[in-house]
Amino acid sequence: MWNKVYVEEHLLEMPRVKSILAKVKQDPIPLGSFDEIWGQSKKPYLHKRDSLNLFLAQKKGQLLKLAPDAYGQAGEPHYYFIHAYNCIYECQYCYLQGYFNTPDVVLFVNHEEILEEMQKTLDQHPNTRVWFHAGEFSDSLALTHLTGELELYHDFCRKNPNAVIELRTKSVNTKELLQLDPLKNFIVSFSLSPFKIGKSIDLKTPSTQARLKTMNELNQKGFTLAAHFDPIIYQDNFKTQYEELLNAMDELGLNKALNYLSMGVVRFTKDVYREVERNYPDSPLHSTPMIKSFDNKVRYNHPMRMWMMNTVKELALKYGIQDEAIYFCMEEHA
Ligand code: SF4
Repeated sequence: MWNKVYVEEHLLEMPRVKSILAKVKQDPIPLGSFDEIWGQSKKPYLHKRDSLNLFLAQKKGQLLKLAPDAYGQAGEPHYYFIHAYNCIYECQYCYLQGYFNTPDVVLFVNHEEILEEMQKTLDQHPNTRVWFHAGEFSDSLALTHLTGELELYHDFCRKNPNAVIELRTKSVNTKELLQLDPLKNFIVSFSLSPFKIGKSIDLKTPSTQARLKTMNELNQKGFTLAAHFDPIIYQDNFKTQYEELLNAMDELGLNKALNYLSMGVVRFTKDVYREVERNYPDSPLHSTPMIKSFDNKVRYNHPMRMWMMNTVKELALKYGIQDEAIYFCMEEHA
């Protein structure tokens, strides 16, 4: 799977690194710091298809970031932690294609330091729940069979009932997750696209059907679940497509089980939009005009976004999702 595997020299003896290297079965190339090579020159995004490198590194600097407004449910503090850069999947709308200079994957292995930061932050908010989201710069489950860190984050939630961890994913790689007991505050949230459009734009990911099957298995075992309909993309029949998705979720009993459902209409920074045009010129993403919006992001006009979200929200209510479980993502200043 990996073209080359680079490891920061000072990490070579770390048991977690040795375990990852044993699983990838490739000789590591030692280097001082991952960013001596990673992102130093522009590597086109689509080169990830046949030449993806892996870097094992220590995350330095800010390990935890305050999430932007409307990132999660309102009224409680939200942070995200950074355990990796880049992703093995290839969704056509992925913002990573214009965010980093390279699609090469970095796995940060200093989870204990990240958890220390989370504990400090949690201690600063003694009277409220604090949310910690994984998966801002990568998928949270896709490589967990290699990285093996889930147990540490799960243990943090077990010891800290006021902390909530959200693992955002499109993966069905639940081998590591299923070793753990379900916890109310350890949430696995799946990003879902309707079946047909998902097939044409969520490239290399497990299909929406496969994700629903995995959600069903996790639900049966008592895991706490959530879902994201994000990005919602306009197509003439988008309403029918969401109705099919919600109906399939309902038949599996998932809609009543969802802790929350977030919705967001497709949006890009200017740089990402340029990359999407270059990388996927025939994508259905380009079939509807977009404008530069209040925050300089490229999106559909405001009435259209609100109409689309309200349409999908009405369907979600019709198919049994509770009103208070639904929130609109990144739209509060619309
Ligand atoms: S799963 Fe998420 S991070 Fe990975 S390619 Fe798709 S949008 Fe990007």
